[in-house]
Amino acid sequence: MPGRLQNKVALITGAGSGIGLESSLLFASEGANVLLVDVALTGAQKGLGLIQERYPNVKADVFQADVGKEHDVRAAVDKAVQVFGRLDIMFNNAGIMHPEDDNALNTEERIWDLTMQINLKGVWWGCKYAILAMRQNKRDDQLGLHEGGSIINTASFVAIRGAATPQLAYTASKGAVLAMSRELAMVHAKEGIRVNALCPGPLKTPLLMDFLDTPEKRDRRLVHLPMGRFGEAVELAKAALFLASDDSSYVTGSDFIVDGGLSAAYVTAL
Ligand code: NAD
Repeated sequence: MPGRLQNKVALITGAGSGIGLESSLLFASEGANVLLVDVALTGAQKGLGLIQERYPNVKADVFQADVGKEHDVRAAVDKAVQVFGRLDIMFNNAGIMHPEDDNALNTEERIWDLTMQINLKGVWWGCKYAILAMRQNKRDDQLGLHEGGSIINTASFVAIRGAATPQLAYTASKGAVLAMSRELAMVHAKEGIRVNALCPGPLKTPLLMDFLDTPEKRDRRLVHLPMGRFGEAVELAKAALFLASDDSSYVTGSDFIVDGGLSAAYVTAL
């Protein structure tokens, strides 16, 4: 059985941890050739090792890039095309939640700017260079490859729900990712380039768990989660796989919510 991403080329940012790492492994297991991109190479190298061990038939590589720098993002896309010949899937997933990000009164401008640089501009540049690369894609019926491609941008549930535990710059950056993704989906739909935003709920990954470092902080959130638990990175990877694959060929411009029901909740069950 060919995999759901057989012969496709995927670039995943933030591939060294959490959603990005699980997606790298899952995409490779479905036959994709994967470029694992991260600002810190240790986790991405680990992911590469696992892919080489488990899925020897796919090609994979790592690339060090800070998505907050346009030059780095461009170089990462160039690398994917140079090594694998094309780019079918761009997963703009890297993001930060800064510990000093707070409410309107306490958030310093440098924290705001850093957050926007990585979470918003990084996604914009990822889309920009992915679109340019995807425009070059030729149909190959033998390999089952199409024109265009699939872009997935990681936003967050906080783009659609307010939190009284504020991280203003983070929330604003994710709201912008959601709006930007929708508009890009409209502009590029007729080129066969699909753009969807992935909206994860709170997850058991370092990004959130490093921050929720006491039982009190975790319980403050858990009471609002209908399933009574945080999500797992692999549960987001499975959603990203759907958006990356041809199974979602008629899905574009969506706010793809994977939050365990959080955004549907008023009162949760005891
Ligand atoms: P994570 O911290 O486990 O992994 C993030 C990865 O991104 C790390 O490997 C890190 O090195 C990399 N990274 C950070 N800054 C980078 C940069 N400038 N350039 C390149 N790589 C960089 O986080 P995660 O939980 O897997 O989060 C992935 C995405 O999901 C983020 O965009 C995050 O905002 C979003 N998200 C997470 C949650 C959650 O609860 N964890 C909820 C909603 C949305």
